[in-house]
Amino acid sequence: MIDISKKEIWFVTGSQHLYGEETLKQVASHSQIVAAGLNSSDKIPVKIVFKPIVTTPSEITTLCKNASNDDNCIGVITWMHTFSPAKMWIAGLNILSKPLCHLHTQFNAEIPWGSIDMDFMNLNQSAHGDREFGFIMSRMRKKRKVVVGHWQDEKVHAKLGVFSRVALGWNEMQNLKVARIGDNMREVAVTEGDKVEAQIRFGVAVNGFDSSDVVAKINEVTDAQLADLLKVYEASYNLSDALKEGGEKRDSLIEAAKIELGLRAFLEEGGFGAFTDTFENLGALKQLPGIATQRLMADGYGFGGEGDWKTAAMVRVMKVMAYGLEEGTSFMEDYTYHFTPQKSYVLGSHMLEICPSITDKKPSCEVHPLGIGGKEDPVRLVFNSPEGDAINASLVDMGNRFRLIVNEVEAVKPMADLPNLPVARVLWDAKPDLDIAATTWILAGGAHHTVYSQAITTEYMEDFADIAGIELLVIDNNTTVRDFKDKINANEAYYNMFQHRL
Ligand code: MN
Repeated sequence: MIDISKKEIWFVTGSQHLYGEETLKQVASHSQIVAAGLNSSDKIPVKIVFKPIVTTPSEITTLCKNASNDDNCIGVITWMHTFSPAKMWIAGLNILSKPLCHLHTQFNAEIPWGSIDMDFMNLNQSAHGDREFGFIMSRMRKKRKVVVGHWQDEKVHAKLGVFSRVALGWNEMQNLKVARIGDNMREVAVTEGDKVEAQIRFGVAVNGFDSSDVVAKINEVTDAQLADLLKVYEASYNLSDALKEGGEKRDSLIEAAKIELGLRAFLEEGGFGAFTDTFENLGALKQLPGIATQRLMADGYGFGGEGDWKTAAMVRVMKVMAYGLEEGTSFMEDYTYHFTPQKSYVLGSHMLEICPSITDKKPSCEVHPLGIGGKEDPVRLVFNSPEGDAINASLVDMGNRFRLIVNEVEAVKPMADLPNLPVARVLWDAKPDLDIAATTWILAGGAHHTVYSQAITTEYMEDFADIAGIELLVIDNNTTVRDFKDKINANEAYYNMFQHRL
């Protein structure tokens, strides 16, 4: 359900007519070589499309208009091979609505010491041409990613890869529809927010539906569909004895499969990329969707529990960013702590809905009571998630702005087996330590719900916040509580002063 094959990032080289036709021909030919080089990098998943060099204000404006209007163009990379007087860019940059990456590179890597002359200097002057371009974007308060280095360097490819993935995520968010099946969990604050402002800021459309809309689709499920899905469950997971054919809880598995088929049909028919549900608004749904939600997330759908539409949207957006990467991304909740005098950890989980993309083992498929909601026992996938670096990201509505909070974490192996815990889980070491991480997270107003991703790093979220024009607070190994408080205070002033321009 993620298709990036038609998406393009345009590679645009700026110059001017001062140097004569011969130099411009060389600029164009170098630019084609650079674009082709980037296009062939396996670190950049999106097609890089060479655009003819731009040398006049009208060429630049036309290009920016075209980029803004082209549905397949999800971003623009610019490079000033020579000097390109930047007042020529004002009209174009004013209307460019696509994410912008300024590649500060140079055609040759090294100075040809023996042969360098003024012709060479005049052709290879991005060292100052890109500074002129940088000024006008700063003067116009235009947020963009700046990538510095030789265009054949893998580190440059990696950064452009991040930019291109974030541009994919942003493009997705511009077109995303989130179905809220039921409303918010009653009286919960952080999962609320301004859906109109979210649509203005991010493009995402969030609308409410009733569980009966899903039940109507469940009623259309055929016996053949049901039999096929039960076979998939049997082949993909270790079913507990009670759920196996002839087992005492087999009916629960059949009901769970019906819920998956109905929910999937509802989402497909409505063109939704993400959804929420609420255990308090289940209506005629017999179980809180567990395995259904887990498998839909694994297929790329965003999800947020208890009506959490912001997290649902971000799960989807981050899954699109991570397209084709091996590591997983899931809805998550800080659940329980493991405090010890030496080091403390967080056990992350949810009632049911953790995405199996974050495990490398075959999940077990089990049925247990939920404890709240008063419905039948839901079927769920249970697994551990492997060790390694990850992030937790939370988008909250501060009333006058959206704030994105990111905490870098390291997933670790649980100290012992958890034979009685009937949910998927991850144990992590929050950076820099739990004391500072939880103190700053709470001061920032970060939610209990997050997007947990092994695939996406803080660099992605930084680029995303710049493109969206929202606040970003990062909690990592360099975070101190005192500096963090200062950042919150400074941002409060900044977003009140400049909100209309961001
Ligand atoms: Mn929750």
